[in-house]
Amino acid sequence: SYIVFNGELTKRDTISIDIEDRGYQFGDGIYEVVRVYNGRLFTWEEHVERLYASAEKIRMTVPYAKEEMKAVMEKLIEKNQLTDGTIYLQLTRGIAPRNHAFPGSDVQAVLVAYTRVSDRPVALMEKGADALVVEDKRWLHCDIKSLNLLGNVLAHQEALDAGCYEAILHRDGVVTEGSHTNISIVMNGTVYTHPANNLILNGISRKVMLKACDSTATSYKEEAFTVEQLLKADEAFITSTTLEITPIRRINNQPIGIEGEYKVIKKLQEAFTADIEAECGPLH
Ligand code: PMP
Repeated sequence: SYIVFNGELTKRDTISIDIEDRGYQFGDGIYEVVRVYNGRLFTWEEHVERLYASAEKIRMTVPYAKEEMKAVMEKLIEKNQLTDGTIYLQLTRGIAPRNHAFPGSDVQAVLVAYTRVSDRPVALMEKGADALVVEDKRWLHCDIKSLNLLGNVLAHQEALDAGCYEAILHRDGVVTEGSHTNISIVMNGTVYTHPANNLILNGISRKVMLKACDSTATSYKEEAFTVEQLLKADEAFITSTTLEITPIRRINNQPIGIEGEYKVIKKLQEAFTADIEAECGPLH
């Protein structure tokens, strides 16, 4: 299969990563995961905006224009004949002798992108996933989609070891987000989700979900909620590029709402699907 390496399409097995790439040594870089439906990019503009915003926050220069980036991703999809799947793309601060200090301005960011085939997780989206509440021990710039994912990895593994699908993170009893998703709850017909500040990643699917609230006349508040409120919620769900809107069935082994009913969630899922179809064409 083909990948993008520094702006060019190349066969995957022809490239290698330098041992002094700053992404490899420091996690000094940023990334995006973009969904492809019917061979078409979904919410590309939002993803590319977030990528450039992340770059700016870590004082990294992206050596490509946004349009250039889109053109090469479209070429990648075509070359790999990807219909349904994702594109993973990352930029690191480049290759330089190991030193915490930024390299000189002559060192260019390294861009890598590749595709993966994947279907929508329809079964999970219908029956729901189980979750475990875990302390959020990450740093205070969770708005940056950085390669430093150790806090997320450890939390997620803790959930997996407990037989759960996702870790729901909290700081001092206030729920922030999932290890690789955003979380929302429904209480008395209103959707609550953490405000998009430095404590969470401003998820693109979270945005699509809020748009779905508008189009279905579902009230919502970008307001933080506690673990206690989460456990008592009428419904709870996670959002992400690959999971879209996925209900949470149980948290810490405790059922949330009525299993399989997911009244508000189903409404939002329908609007989410309509949004995908409007941009990428009919889903099968
Ligand atoms: N929060 C975290 C920590 C994430 O890693 C992700 C992406 N996997 C999300 C939220 C969801 O973001 P998006 O909807 O843009 O995929």
